[in-house]
Amino acid sequence: MSNDTQVIIVGGGPVGVGLAVELGLRGVSCIVVERRTGMHNIPKGQNLTARTLEHFFNWGIIDEIRAARVMPAGYPESGLVAYGNLRGEYWYAPPMREILNPYYIQKNDRLPQYEMEKVLRAKAGTIPGVELRLGWAAESVADHGGGVTLTMTGESSGERIELTADYLVGCDGAHSTVRDRIGIRRSGDDYDQLMVLAVFRSKEFHDGLSRYPERSTYRVMKPELNGYWQFFGRIDVGEGFFFHAPVPADTTRENYDFLGLLHEAAGFEFDAEFDHLGFWDLRVLVAEEYRKGRIFIAGDAAHSHPPYGGFGLNNGLEDIRNLGWKLAARLEGWGGETLLESYGLERQPVFRDIGEKLIGGRIRDDAAFFDQFNPEKDRAAFEEAWEKESGRAGGFIRRYEPSYGGSPVVAAPDGAKSTAIGEHTFEARAGHHLAPRGLSTDANVYDELGAGFTLIALDASDDEIRAFTDAAGEMALPLSVVRDTAADERADYGQRFILVRPDHFIAWCGDEIPDDARALFRTVIGA
Ligand SMILES: Cc1cc2nc3c(=O)[nH]c(=O)nc-3n(C[C@H](O)[C@H](O)[C@H](O)COP(=O)(O)OP(=O)(O)OC[C@H]3O[C@@H](n4cnc5c(N)ncnc54)[C@H](O)[C@@H]3O)c2cc1C
Repeated sequence: MSNDTQVIIVGGGPVGVGLAVELGLRGVSCIVVERRTGMHNIPKGQNLTARTLEHFFNWGIIDEIRAARVMPAGYPESGLVAYGNLRGEYWYAPPMREILNPYYIQKNDRLPQYEMEKVLRAKAGTIPGVELRLGWAAESVADHGGGVTLTMTGESSGERIELTADYLVGCDGAHSTVRDRIGIRRSGDDYDQLMVLAVFRSKEFHDGLSRYPERSTYRVMKPELNGYWQFFGRIDVGEGFFFHAPVPADTTRENYDFLGLLHEAAGFEFDAEFDHLGFWDLRVLVAEEYRKGRIFIAGDAAHSHPPYGGFGLNNGLEDIRNLGWKLAARLEGWGGETLLESYGLERQPVFRDIGEKLIGGRIRDDAAFFDQFNPEKDRAAFEEAWEKESGRAGGFIRRYEPSYGGSPVVAAPDGAKSTAIGEHTFEARAGHHLAPRGLSTDANVYDELGAGFTLIALDASDDEIRAFTDAAGEMALPLSVVRDTAADERADYGQRFILVRPDHFIAWCGDEIPDDARALFRTVIGA
C-alpha cells in the first residue's frame, strides 16, 4: 500500500511551513498538520538575519517578504542599549546585524513573524504536492522501519485519523508532542526566572523616544536585572511595541502592575493599551538528538531559549534548509543514510554553542559587568567600561558564524568542528557558508548556483572539470558547474575549486582537483 505522502510535517509555524516550501520546490510531497486554523498575532521573530533572507531569495519569495515589511523602508533594524532606563545619560546604539550583510546575497530585515508566515503559507499553497491540513492536532507517531504513521485528531470534529509517509518532521514548537512521543530529552540551563511578554500600543511612548536616533529596539540594562533584559521592540513606527522583561515568580495577569513596569523601564510615564500579555520561563534547552530513525525534529522543538539575539526563528529556518535537501536526496535515491544522520550532527552542536556561549555567556557577562561597574559607586570606572562595552556589541554579532567542519559529509581539514563561533570572511572554507562574489558576467555567483551541488571552477581546464562531472554523472549526483576566471572578487575565495551544497554551505574546496572525485562525492552525499 502506498503512503499518503513522502514527508509529514507536524506544526505549521514558520519552520514547518518553511520546510514544506523547501521540500515542495525539490519535488517532494508533504502534508503539514497544524492545530491552529488562524494566524497568531504575536509580533515575535522580527529580527531576521541576512542568511534567513537568503532562504527567502532561494524560495522565490524575496519580493513578497520585503513588501510585507511593516517598518518604513530604510528605517534601521538595529537597536540601542541604555543603562538604568530610557531617560538615563548612558546609552549606545552600535551597528548591529547590518555589518554582516556583505557576506550574504541578501540584507537583513525586520518584520512581524505573522506577516512573514503569511507569505510562506501563500507560497506553500502554490506548490503542487504540498498540502496544509489546518485544525488537526498530532497525537502519536510511530516509526515502523519502512515508514512512519501519524495519528491526529480534528480540533473541532474530534475525528481521529492516521496518515502514513516515508519520514516525519516535528516542527511543533517548544512543547513538541513529536519530541515527547519519540523520547528525545533536552538539556541546558534553567534560569528559574519568569518573563513577561507584553504587546502594547502607545503614541506617547513613541514620542518619548525622540531623543534617540531612529532605532527598532531599546534594551535596558541595570544591576538588579542580573544580566536579563528589559526589552522594547517596535512593531511599526508610530505606536506598536512589544516588551519583555523578568517578573517575580508569582506574577499573573491580574496581580501585577504591567504599565508601572513599562514606566520603570522607560523612565517616564505614558498611556498604553495592551493587546497581549503572556509569560514564559527563561530557559535554554537543546534536544540531545535531532533524529530517531525516520522521525526528526526542527526549530523550537529542537531548541528553545529566550529571545536574546534573535536566534530562534533564524536557526529554525537554518535547520530545515539543512534537512530539506538531505531528505530530498535520500528520497531521490542519491543521498545515503549518513546524510540524514549529518543533520543533527551539524545543527545540534551549533545550537549547543548558541545556548551556552552566545545566550548563556552573554547573560553571565552582563551580570558580571553590572556587578563590577556602577556609576553610583565609581563613575569614572563605569564610563570607561561602558565605552568599551559599546564596542563589544558588534563583536558579539561577528562571532556568530556557524560552520559544520565536524560533519561526516563535509571534507574539512582534520580537527575542524561544527560550531556557532567563527569569523566572517570571503575566503572559501569547507563547512562554512559560501560568501557571494561577483562573476565576470556581472552576475553574482548566487545567481548561478544550482538546486543540487554546484562546482565553482576558477581558471580550470576542461579535463579538470570533467574529473568532477564524470564522477557526478556515474553517481546520479545533481551537479551544476559555474566556470570563471579566478580574477577580481573571485580571488577572495582563495581556492580554484569550491563544491557548494544545496544549502549553500561548502562541502569541500581546494586548489587542485581531488585524487579521487568519486570518493569525495561519496563523502559529501553520505554514501
Ligand atoms: C517575544 C519574542 C521575540 C522573538 N524574537 C525573535 C527574533 O527576533 N528572531 C528570531 O529568530 N526568533 C525570535 N523569536 C523566536 C521565534 O518566534 C521562534 O523561534 C519561532 O516561532 C519558532 O518557530 P517554530 O515553527 O519552530 O515553532 P512555533 O512558531 O512555535 O510553531 C509551532 C507550530 O506547531 C503547532 N503545533 C504544536 N503542537 C502541535 C500538534 N500536536 N499538532 C499540530 N500542530 C501543533 C503550533 O500551533 C504552532 O503553529 C522570538 C520569540 C518571542 C516569544
